[in-house]
Amino acid sequence: MKKISEIINVKLYVLIALLALFYGFAFILSDFYDSPFDSIYDLLILSLQWAVVVAATFGFLYLIVLNKYVFAILFPILTVSCSILAYMRYALQISLTPMLIDLAFVNDARTWFENFNLQLLLWIVFSLAISIGCVFYRWKYIKVQYPVLHLFIAVCIILLTNSWSFKRPVSQRIPYVIYYSIKDYLDSRKIIQENRETFIKNDAYTSVDSLNVVLVLGESLRADHLALNGYTRNTTPFLSRDSNVISYPHIYTIPYYTHTSIPHLLTRADSISPDRAYEEESFISLFKQAGYKTCWIANQESVPTYVYFMNECDTLIYVNGGKSLYIFDKWLDGDLLPDYRNALDPENPKTLTILHTIGSHWWYNAHYPDSFEIFKPVIKSRVIKTNTQEEMINSYDNTILYTDFVIHQFINELKERCAILFYISDHGESLGENGYYLHGEDRPELHNPACFIWYSTAYQKRFPERIEQLKQHRNDRYLTDFLFHTILDAASIETSYKNKQLSLINP
Ligand SMILES: [Zn+2]
Repeated sequence: MKKISEIINVKLYVLIALLALFYGFAFILSDFYDSPFDSIYDLLILSLQWAVVVAATFGFLYLIVLNKYVFAILFPILTVSCSILAYMRYALQISLTPMLIDLAFVNDARTWFENFNLQLLLWIVFSLAISIGCVFYRWKYIKVQYPVLHLFIAVCIILLTNSWSFKRPVSQRIPYVIYYSIKDYLDSRKIIQENRETFIKNDAYTSVDSLNVVLVLGESLRADHLALNGYTRNTTPFLSRDSNVISYPHIYTIPYYTHTSIPHLLTRADSISPDRAYEEESFISLFKQAGYKTCWIANQESVPTYVYFMNECDTLIYVNGGKSLYIFDKWLDGDLLPDYRNALDPENPKTLTILHTIGSHWWYNAHYPDSFEIFKPVIKSRVIKTNTQEEMINSYDNTILYTDFVIHQFINELKERCAILFYISDHGESLGENGYYLHGEDRPELHNPACFIWYSTAYQKRFPERIEQLKQHRNDRYLTDFLFHTILDAASIETSYKNKQLSLINP
C-alpha cells in the first residue's frame, strides 16, 4: 500500500492539476472565448477541445516539474510567455504564427514594443509572481520518486494529446503554439535557403518598358457561384458590369488543397511532372530576370510548400501575420489595399504583384464585413453540421460579394495604367453536395476554381491581338497549367521555359 501511494504521489498530481487548470483559465481560454457557437452541442465540442488542450498542458507541466532545476528555469519563462500570448489574443486578436515571428525578428521589431503598456506589464508581473511562488513550493515540498516511471507517463500524455485529430487544435493554441510556431518558422527558413536555381540566368527578357501585372490568388472560390458565369444570384455586381473582364468557367485544377495548389499554379508543374512544384523556381524568377519588380502581399499564412516562392519576390508583406484559423473575428482582404497601392509605385514601371487572398475560406462570416451580409440567414456555428445548407451557401455567397468588391478596388488602381490582372482560385469548395462541405474530401466541385482576367484599356490598345486570343479561349477547357505560360506571355516575357501551346494567348 505504501508503495502505491509513493508512486501516485498525490501532492505532485494536485500541483500539476492546479497548474494545468490555472493555464486553462488564465491563458488557454483566450484561444476559445471568441469561438462562435449556437447550441449546447457546440458548447460541448468547444469544451472538449479546451479540455484536450488543458490535458496536453498537464503533460508538459508534468514533464518539467519532475526536475526542480528544470522547473525553476522553464516554468517562469513559459508562464510569462503564455501571459504575453493571452494578452495579444484578448487585446489584439492575434496569435503567435511563424509569420509573426518573421515580422518580429526580420522586418519590424518596433511593432512589438508599440503594444507594450501598463496593463501588459502588470499581467507579466502577476504571472511571474505566481510562477516564482510555484517554483518555491515545488522546491520545498515535492519529492519525486520513481522519476523514470513519471517521465514515461508524462511523455505518453504529451504524445497522445499531440496525435491524430488532437494535433491541429493543440498545436495552434497556447502553450503548444510556442513550440510549433518556432518549429514551422525554422523549417520555413530552411526551405527559403534551398538552392532551386533551376532556370538558366539571363534567359528571360522583355521589350516593354512599363506594364503592371497583378495575380490574385483566390481561396476556395468555385466557378459556378459567380454571376459572371451564370450563377442565379448576383454575386459579382462589379465584375459583371466591367466589360474588360474575361471569365474562364472551365478551368480544371488537379490539386484541391491550398498548400498543393499554389506551388502547382506558380511553377511549370503539370500532370506529367508534378514534382516541379517542389523542385523548380516559379515564374516570379523569370519576371525578375526580365526586369520586373516583384512583390507578394499575403493575407494568408505562409506554409512550407510555397514559402519559397513568397521569398522569391523582391518584397514580401504580411498584412495579417497574427491571424490563425482559430481566430473568428474579421479577417478581410480589404486589408491588402494599402500595401497593394504602395506596390504600384510609379517609380517601378514594370511590376508583378501577387496578392494571396483569404477569399472564401471557412468560417465564411469572418471574411466579409457585416455590410456585405446580403444573403441571409447566415451560419451561426463553427460546427459545420449544426448549420443548414442554406446558411452555409448564404455565408459563402456573401464572401463572393465582398471578393467582387475588393477586386473591383484592385482594378480601380490599374485603370489608368497599362495593366493586366489575373484572378485564379486555388480550388473550389463543397457546399453540401452529397453531404460534403469545405474541401477535405476529393469531390468534383473542388476541381473547378473561379478564374478570370481583366485588362486595362491601355493594355488593349497596345496588344489588341492578345485580347482577341484571350477572348477566343474563354469557353475552352484548360488545366491550371495554363497560368505559368499565359502570365509570361501577358507580360511580354520571352523565355525558353514558356510553352506557347499551353498559353491562352495563342491563336
Ligand atoms: Zn485553399
